[in-house]
Amino acid sequence: MSNIEQHKPEKLEFQAEVSQMLDIVINSLYTERDIFVRELISNASDALEKLRLISLTEDNIIQKELPLEINIETDDNNKTFIISDTGIGMSREELISNLGTIAHSGSREFIKGLAEGEQNNTQLIGQFGVGFYAAFMAGAKVTVQSLSYREGSLGWEWSSEGVGSYTVTEVDGLQRGTRIIVTLKEDAHEYADSEKVKRIVQQYSNFIPFDIKINGEKINTVQAIWSRNKNEVSDEEYNEFYKYFTNSYSDPMFRLHISSDAPLQLNALLYIPADNPELYGMGHLEPGVSIYSRKVLIDQKSTDIFPEYFRFIKGVVDSEDLPLNISRETAQNSILVKKMRKYLTKRVLTFIEKQSEDKEKYGIFWSKFSRFIKEGCVNDPESRESLAKLLRFNSSKKDNEELISLEEYVAEMKEGQTDIYYINCPSRELIESGPYLEIFREKDIEVLYLHEPVDDFVISALYEYRQKKFVSADQADLDLFISEGSGEGSEVLNQDEIFSLAALMKEIIGDSISEVRESKRLLGSPAMLVNSDQTYTTAMQRVLKAAESGFSNAGSKILEINPRHQVIIKLAKFKESGSDLDFLRSCIEQIADNAFLSAGLTDRGGLMIERIYKIMNRALDSNG
Ligand code: ADP
Ligand code: MG
Repeated sequence: MSNIEQHKPEKLEFQAEVSQMLDIVINSLYTERDIFVRELISNASDALEKLRLISLTEDNIIQKELPLEINIETDDNNKTFIISDTGIGMSREELISNLGTIAHSGSREFIKGLAEGEQNNTQLIGQFGVGFYAAFMAGAKVTVQSLSYREGSLGWEWSSEGVGSYTVTEVDGLQRGTRIIVTLKEDAHEYADSEKVKRIVQQYSNFIPFDIKINGEKINTVQAIWSRNKNEVSDEEYNEFYKYFTNSYSDPMFRLHISSDAPLQLNALLYIPADNPELYGMGHLEPGVSIYSRKVLIDQKSTDIFPEYFRFIKGVVDSEDLPLNISRETAQNSILVKKMRKYLTKRVLTFIEKQSEDKEKYGIFWSKFSRFIKEGCVNDPESRESLAKLLRFNSSKKDNEELISLEEYVAEMKEGQTDIYYINCPSRELIESGPYLEIFREKDIEVLYLHEPVDDFVISALYEYRQKKFVSADQADLDLFISEGSGEGSEVLNQDEIFSLAALMKEIIGDSISEVRESKRLLGSPAMLVNSDQTYTTAMQRVLKAAESGFSNAGSKILEINPRHQVIIKLAKFKESGSDLDFLRSCIEQIADNAFLSAGLTDRGGLMIERIYKIMNRALDSNG
């Protein structure tokens, strides 16, 4: 700008609080220097935004032909960083009041407190945003040249070394807007390196809705579509943004665009991806939602904006109410961020519930993301009820493809049924071939199948759904369905026979069970394990066992035997005969192992094969 002409400078003092602020910025926040670039871009973007708004209603704007853009120039020879915008600019009075005073009384008080040592945590300053003064983090001298958009404006230059005073000078020949020349400190020369600046700008400002050029090269490509009107954004644009944002090639599964003014001002554009990398062993996902304030990134992949189990959600939350300089630590403690988190979590939960109306599509969602919903049920008491509505299960009354919700289960409960029955077992085959379902089949009661170990933790966290308690089908005191007199008329052991057989069985089987007793629910199977431990369900024991080899579940299992079953009846008779104790022992051990197997506790296979051959051998003998 060779035709700029300087007039006589006028020297002015900073307001006391500004001096204090500058002191803190220069001496305490120098470790986070990069933020000055972002603050200046944000101001430039604001100024452009304002001009854009004004131009909608006003005609008297100077230099209308200028494109609305931000230009950054790095000068490695002179060690300067220059940023200019073609926004509204500032008059002399505006320069003095905007850059020489701190307007908000709250900020003033806060800074005074900081400076006087009342608060010693300089991190807190992030909550207020250091704004323009951040330029002094890197600048030994900062010069602001500005020409207001108003017709007949004069150009002004504001300049300061950041201590005590600044000068204001009239200058001619400026273009509309603001140009800030940061003469870099000795130890901040890196900001004259265009590559370094480019990295910062790309990281923070890629969705600024104005072109940003560095040394003439345009570097931001994508628009902040989240702040546009929903009706004006096409599916393709939404998908393109998603792909850009997530670096992926596929379209998202779902998208949710929120524009809200109350209770909070925010725009959010959230996506549920088509797939879940955690399923492919890619490890624990990072959170995928970034927080913006007026289109400037303030926290990338924020851990605060959603609960952890929503880490599969990708996107952007933008709120004008957020201070620009909020740091990760302060975002965590920000009341506003907490409010946003609560509001957004609720919106997302409602959104997913709505999607579940399309069973087929929801089935796909469920197959990919169920683990996160389950994780939420366990970890988030506040949203548990809403999360429970999203759960889906296989069940004894549906085929493998069909999933049901708890809502559907409850709606189809039998008259008089007060509990929700479930069983956790690795596979449908194992459940259906085992003893546990017998009584439920008999009573035509539906049982939910839980196939994942985590399911038991989910159920125990939920405890009930619509006031219906969850009851495991392997629970020892399953009282409702005592099947009095089932199999009546057929042969049955008497109490003495049962008692004495049970005692012998307990002696032979040993400490892996706590008790052997008569079953009141078994129909077609000779024996089953039931759980007397309310704290650890069978599935949990499977998990704990796998996790910790020393875990012992001794004392928690009861072996129930069916006194009407031919195997048990014959066993009792064989015992009375007193012959071949070795064979009797093998049979009892095998019954126990079969029961463990049906319960999905499969770590006892070793001795079994040998024993089965022994039993077969004997059976074949007696036939011959
Ligand atoms: P904030 O942006 O939060 O208001 P800043 O310290 O960043 O605080 O800026 C103070 C004020 O200076 C802004 O509100 C704006 O009025 C003015 N200002 C700063 N940079 C520019 C610019 N590039 N163009 C026009 N006005 C600006
Ligand atoms: Mg600002």
